[in-house]
Amino acid sequence: MTGGENILVAEKLSKSFGGFKAVSDVDLKVRRHTIHALIGPNGAGKTTCFNLMTKFMQPTSGRILLNGEDITRTKPSAVTRMGMVRSFQISSVFPGMTVLENLRVALQRKLGISYHFWRSRSALDSVNERANELIAEVGLEAFKHRPASELSYGGKRTLELATTIALDPEILLLDEPMAGMASGDIHKMVDLIRRVSQGRTVLMVEHNLNVVADLSDTITVLQLGQVLAEGSYREVSQNPEVITAYMGD
Ligand code: ADP
Repeated sequence: MTGGENILVAEKLSKSFGGFKAVSDVDLKVRRHTIHALIGPNGAGKTTCFNLMTKFMQPTSGRILLNGEDITRTKPSAVTRMGMVRSFQISSVFPGMTVLENLRVALQRKLGISYHFWRSRSALDSVNERANELIAEVGLEAFKHRPASELSYGGKRTLELATTIALDPEILLLDEPMAGMASGDIHKMVDLIRRVSQGRTVLMVEHNLNVVADLSDTITVLQLGQVLAEGSYREVSQNPEVITAYMGD
């Protein structure tokens, strides 16, 4: 393990669209084994910053380090193999496949199992065993043999999280994990994120401030593409500049 206590670091990260700086000289340090939230009013640059950190977008300038290694020019697929996985891409769930089949596919991808090896008994057994563990971990046992299309919205997002965990990430990047969820599902998802974050690091963009308060060890507040404040929820929520920024939203 390298990179010290910070697993993911952004140094002077900037992104311009034409002449407009959506993210400007952002420094961010995500400590290992913590939950770190990126918040801010609409247009603050959260999505752009998240897309830069997850390698879905190239910065105009600045650097990103994962475990001390410069990943600024590294492809998203290579970054995934290095242990940084972004969740909540609806496309990661195959609606016609059962919950179990979806997880088998994710595990197969993780293990890089070829079709012939995949057919061998021992490979099948180990993949099935891990898939069942994941199903139990996220509480989808009752839906194991149901097609993913039959899951509720919250259920689909739970399955997405499980397929992400199947990739065995060291750091998990969550893009608005509570978006579109009913309040009952939000409680379940908060519990689930807390559970899956054990022994891992989480960086998330989230609008629901109750969820942010509940889950986060550290919060970075962005405004107009820059870091406005950073600290615990208690610290940032009492910061007059943060209060003003949110009141103007
Ligand atoms: P947030 O997620 O905090 O709402 P965004 O990162 O989506 O903020 O956007 C930050 C700013 O950058 C906004 O003013 C937005 O209009 C602008 N922006 C985002 N993406 C693009 C783009 N592809 N082209 C031009 N401007 C963009």
